[in-house]
This record gives sequence, structure tokens and C-alpha cells, in this order.
Amino acid sequence: MDLTVVRRRLEEAEERLSPFAARSIRSSRVLPEEPSPIRTPFQRDRDRILHTRAFRRLKHKTQVYIAPAGDHFVTRLTHTLEVAQVARTITRALNLNEDLAEAASLGHDIGHGPFGHAGEEALAECLPEGFRHNYQSVRVLEHLENGGRGLNLTFEVLDAIGKSSKTRDDILSEGWGVPTTLEGQAVKVADAIAYLNHDILDAVRAGVIRENDLPASTRNELGQSHGERINTLVSDIVEASWAATGVQPSQDEPPSIRFSPRIHGVANELREFMFRRVYHYEQTLRDAERGKRVVHFLFAHFVANPGGISPDYSLPGDPVERRAADYVSGMTDRYAIRLARELGCGDAIGWEQG
Ligand code: MG
Repeated sequence: MDLTVVRRRLEEAEERLSPFAARSIRSSRVLPEEPSPIRTPFQRDRDRILHTRAFRRLKHKTQVYIAPAGDHFVTRLTHTLEVAQVARTITRALNLNEDLAEAASLGHDIGHGPFGHAGEEALAECLPEGFRHNYQSVRVLEHLENGGRGLNLTFEVLDAIGKSSKTRDDILSEGWGVPTTLEGQAVKVADAIAYLNHDILDAVRAGVIRENDLPASTRNELGQSHGERINTLVSDIVEASWAATGVQPSQDEPPSIRFSPRIHGVANELREFMFRRVYHYEQTLRDAERGKRVVHFLFAHFVANPGGISPDYSLPGDPVERRAADYVSGMTDRYAIRLARELGCGDAIGWEQG
């Protein structure tokens, strides 16, 4: 049997997507490859990302709460799966390429170091060129994984991952650039929808806020429950971004993925509230400072002792600082804590409860 009939069927289905959707047949890789008979290039990228060791380590990397004791706290892994779900819902509703959105979502946080943004800040202080988790995600997928050869992913997937970060000022801020594809834009906003909502639940679980503390606009406009809030935000995106389906002419050329002005304002107010009350909460900041000191300690240790840097997580020709940063940023929270404790770092003693 000639299995390429499967790929031809998939490509025909992609032809029926919105005229603004990305099409895998037009995607490109640095090294050209023989196409798979049964998967499109974006499906292949998704599978390659899913089977990396870096993806598995997301299970033990912090979202907001460092090495949390409770089983129900969000981790980078569950966050990543929620982003993929939201991005798939948005792209499918707008007749865009769901496979591209899924692949980029699964890879978007793969370069996050231990201890969430605290670890990122510490690594940025260590390296003269700085450190950003979105760029590190691209670096892991393009160079570090697969024995230092990288995964040879499509340009579209790497572009969406590299530009997935946002700055604090606005939920739709360009931050590290506007993704070239609408699917990449959907991942960028899905990331914010996912974290704002699961971080509310975690903050309530940790006793940092009560649901009643949420801004009145959140309670009145988004809904009373976790499910209602996500549904309102996602439905609003679909409605406000309808031009992306290409079914009716719009003034908005090319179309973009966006909120309605009203819900955009509500979402920004919620985001600001979360920064003030949750991300910058005293205990959270204390744990973050401790996480930063552990990362600084490990970085300094491996720069002084480069023989200890695993060749599996760094590239041999790179400067020692880069190799140390690549190695430390690949660590999970618990691995970093354990290793730092073994090496005599006081900040790591008596910390890990999980
Ligand atoms: Mg994320």
C-alpha cells in the first residue's frame, strides 16, 4: 500500500483552511528532508518536541511556586498542555492550522530554567549576552537536543516559539516580536490566558488570595469560575479575530489575533492584579531570591569546574559561561536543589519538600 495517500489527504484538508492559515506544504527547514508519508511537517515537529528529554523535564520545573509540596499546583508541563489546548481551540475555531499551534505550544517553554522567572533572571545576570527563556527554547530545539544536532524544526514553529514572550505592560504586547503566522499569535495569547487562570487557582490554593479579591471587572465580565473565565477569554478572542478566517472581507489586512477592546482591558487589569498580589507576593519573592542564589551558585561552580558540565546539555565549542548556562538552565527545580545541596550551597539546604 502506498501510504502517501494519507499525507495527500492531510494536505487537501489544509487547502480548505483559512487563506490566512499557515500551510505545511509551504513550510521550510534549514536541512531539507524527505517528507513523511503520514504526517505533515508541523505534525512531525510536534512529535519531535514531545519526545525530547527537555520536554519531560518540564514536569519538575516551576510555574510560579517553587518545588511546591501540593500535588495540584501547576508545573511547566501542565501549563504547557493548557497552552496547547487553548491555542488549538482558537486556531480550530478560526480555521487556522491547529498542528502548527500545537507544535509551537508544546515547545514554547522548553528553555525555561529551574525556579521559573527567578532562574531566568539569575541566568541573565550571569551571561554577558543575557538570558531569555523564549530564545533558550529555540536554542534547545535548534542546537542542544538530539545529541547537539538539534531537531531541524520548521521555520514557522521556531518563529512562534522565539516570539512567544510578552512584557508586563500589556497582555498583547509585542514583547519579543510579533509572530509571523497567526498560529504563532494564537500561541502567544493562549500562553497568557492559560497562566493567568491557573495562577489564580494556585494562588488561592496557596492562601495568597481569595477568589473574592479578584478585580470586580474580572468577576463581572469574565465569570465566577475557572471554566467561565477561560471560556469568556477564548470566545472573545475567536469573535474579535474573526477576520482571520477570511470568510468576509475586512479592513484589517493582514488580520491579527486579538481581544475585543473591552475584554482586553479586563484581562490587563487581571494581569496587573496578579503581578501585584501574586507574582510579587512577599513569600513568593523570598523563594524566588533563594532560587536565584542557587542558580548563581551552580553557574559559578561550573564555570570554575567545567569538567563537571555534562556534554549532553551543552556544546563543546562554546565558551565556558555559555556551556554552564546551558547546563544549569536545563535542570529541574529539584535537581538543581539537590545538586546545590551536595555541593554545599546553604540556600539549598532544607528546601525541597516535594
Ligand atoms: Mg508559557
